[in-house]
Amino acid sequence: MATRKVWVTLEATGVDVVTVAGILRDFTAVDRMKRAALVMGGAVVLAGALIPIPIIHLLGIPLVLLAGMLMAARQLASVTRLQPLRIACPKCGAVNRVGGGFGYRSVASGLDRTCDSCRRNLTMRITDR
Ligand SMILES: [Zn+2]
Repeated sequence: MATRKVWVTLEATGVDVVTVAGILRDFTAVDRMKRAALVMGGAVVLAGALIPIPIIHLLGIPLVLLAGMLMAARQLASVTRLQPLRIACPKCGAVNRVGGGFGYRSVASGLDRTCDSCRRNLTMRITDR
């Protein structure tokens, strides 16, 4: 798992961009397989735990397995992940948490997001430093 230092910027129309330092972790193919297998394994264990519960197991087990497969597919597709960090919204100044989660399929172009506080559309860009 290679990490690299990046600049994370939030942009909105008509205001200055906000830039903070961040760390981006690139996943290798093996990392992605491991993450997907871990998620699928967790889903299988959870589905197994539902077996003794009457009625719930009829619908719960297929749903948990389906959700596990979808999340595993997302883990396989994400090639990079930003370490969680806090960045101020360029419009209202409220601190937003970005990064973490599943990661991103690509960071080559801007990523759309909305401010947690003012709900305005922002563009997040990740560039090498
Ligand atoms: Zn805002």
